[in-house]
Amino acid sequence: MAVPNDAIVGEIVSCKDCSSEYEVAEIANGTVLLKPAEQVGEDWGE
Ligand SMILES: [Zn+2]
Repeated sequence: MAVPNDAIVGEIVSCKDCSSEYEVAEIANGTVLLKPAEQVGEDWGE
């Protein structure tokens, strides 16, 4: 997925294809590492 050039660590970005949300975990040498965003407010009973 495309990440904005001005993305910052901790920013939440949405995938245009599947509308999943990701958090920018790390930016190193222009490479953006993403992790699935925490789904705050959702209780899955775990
Ligand atoms: Zn996607």
